[in-house]
Amino acid sequence: MHRVETECQGSALSKRIGSLSEDALRYALERQDPSAIFALGCEIAGRLERNGILRSDWSRGLVVAAVGGIEICSSFARSCDYCMERKVKHLVNGELCEELQYYHRICAVTIVNSAFPIPLGFRFQKDGETEVSCSLSLLQDLPDRVSRRFLDLLIADALYLQAPFVRAVEGLGLGWVINLKDNQPELLAEAQRLTAWAALHRGNQEQQELQLWHAPEVYWPVADRSVRVVKTVRTQRQNRIRVSLDDAGRRRPQKEMVVELSTNCYASNLELGTIPPVFVHQLA
Ligand SMILES: [Zn+2]
Repeated sequence: MHRVETECQGSALSKRIGSLSEDALRYALERQDPSAIFALGCEIAGRLERNGILRSDWSRGLVVAAVGGIEICSSFARSCDYCMERKVKHLVNGELCEELQYYHRICAVTIVNSAFPIPLGFRFQKDGETEVSCSLSLLQDLPDRVSRRFLDLLIADALYLQAPFVRAVEGLGLGWVINLKDNQPELLAEAQRLTAWAALHRGNQEQQELQLWHAPEVYWPVADRSVRVVKTVRTQRQNRIRVSLDDAGRRRPQKEMVVELSTNCYASNLELGTIPPVFVHQLA
């Protein structure tokens, strides 16, 4: 809404719509039927897709969406009919108390390969519903509203690497790339075992080095199937300034080099063919 407000003041939208405040948008949206908004968002995204706006070179012509959940607000005092509830320990006048807290979580599906992210839809998580099942309901609602071949690929964090979710996503005809972490310990251990050798790929850019391992078939016992795994280690060199005091108590700024390492594993069902495995890293 901030973006729309800004665009309405000076850019292209100022001619098409004219000045429109965030407050006016919120007032109108509060009085709209959410399913109509959802349908409209999908219709617009469908038109963008038909006009070729959503395709991009880096994603090799694939339309890539990310799915994820976020908590959007919480309160001990204010609530609505659709609030989720939880008991939270917090300090009241210096004493630790357990109190009922109201909050909301939403799941969103957003196209991420385009020049800027385009939200396709979101869904409020219900009390007793997990983030993953909420996101799945949202995804299953999408094909009815957008054409079946609209999305190609789904990106998600490690929470979503669960056999039933992955099966359902494939049932929708989607490819997927999901972070692999210790919530799938057997798959992670097998992936580590198969990538314990020298890296397949070593790329060097200024201040950054990328090492990459690729295991095209890693057995995932819980799901009784194989998945592709890509592991990366990124080494980033950064210059920092550290200020120390010398013997006379004067401040002496000193340049120092800091090396940061980050390791990531990704599981995927992508058929790479002639595409290099570094594509999985770029997607994630
Ligand atoms: Zn509420």
